[in-house]
Amino acid sequence: MSYCFQLQLQAITRHFPFPRFSHYKNSSSFSCAKDYLEMEDTKEASELLVADPVLLDKKIDAIRLAGPQKLQVIADFDATLTKFWVNGIRGQSSHGLLQQCNPEYDAKRQQLYEYYYPLEFSPTIGLEEKTKLMEEWWGKTHGLLVEGGLTYESIRKSVADSNIAFREGVVELFEFLEERDIPVLIFSAGLADIIEEVLRSKLHSSFKNVRIVSNRMVFDDDGRLVSFKGKLIHSLNKNEHALDMAAPVHEQLGDMNGQTDDNTSFKKRTNVLLLGDHIGDLGMSNGLNYETRISVGFLNNNIENSFSCYREAFDVVLVNDAPMWGVIKLVSQMCSSGS
Ligand SMILES: [Mg+2]
Repeated sequence: MSYCFQLQLQAITRHFPFPRFSHYKNSSSFSCAKDYLEMEDTKEASELLVADPVLLDKKIDAIRLAGPQKLQVIADFDATLTKFWVNGIRGQSSHGLLQQCNPEYDAKRQQLYEYYYPLEFSPTIGLEEKTKLMEEWWGKTHGLLVEGGLTYESIRKSVADSNIAFREGVVELFEFLEERDIPVLIFSAGLADIIEEVLRSKLHSSFKNVRIVSNRMVFDDDGRLVSFKGKLIHSLNKNEHALDMAAPVHEQLGDMNGQTDDNTSFKKRTNVLLLGDHIGDLGMSNGLNYETRISVGFLNNNIENSFSCYREAFDVVLVNDAPMWGVIKLVSQMCSSGS
């Protein structure tokens, strides 16, 4: 890390030191960013960076005044809810962890990955062409999963054997939101069935407020994959109609109180806490005519080169593969009843 960059980080954290989790536990009354100024500097402080504390304060106040019934959380999954580094190596993604117990087909999917992944990030390919390539990649991958006879049992085994882990504090965050009937929409270009299995097996609890909008599989009675449901969601269209794609999920599962929801009720939750690890994740709130949005960006890698970009784009930036305590603190302020 360069000396200049360190100074830049220090300048920002100095304005927004962050309390330990214990402070959150013992208090629900941190009502504005200036409260942080009185807190001691901690490791968390060096991981949580706010470029404009005054603006953040205003947004927190606006969300707090509107109440939790107007708030929803929209989160990316891979490297946002999950950690970037797991056991000292790069953690697996929900797509990457899948082994279909058929080495020939695992190898074929790997070949697709090696061909298409560089194209996804190529600076010389236009968006339109890239979108076509992504449709091709996802389409072929899904085809191989069906053709290779993926079973639900393979998903269970893949998740059990995987190197994937949630950030510390994800359970507490979901619990906090569940207690207040605040929905969490997880948007992912991965596979909903895998994400659900990861949630089940790694969190050891289920949350009635968490919904997943992702590619969903259809299994036959023998637990063998036969097709995919609905519109293909890939990395470049994930955000395009994300909320519209979420509508049937809400409709199907009902609202937080177990009553049937209508397609638009979540669109009435016009305040958003958005969590992502890519600038493109900011698009997850597209389609929602939000009043106030607080965005949190997890900058996991290549920090020095991407920092100014993330600082511009997100209200809060978390570095060093930080745990969720900072987000819990933020959301506790948004839901605080104090003035
Ligand atoms: Mg991600």
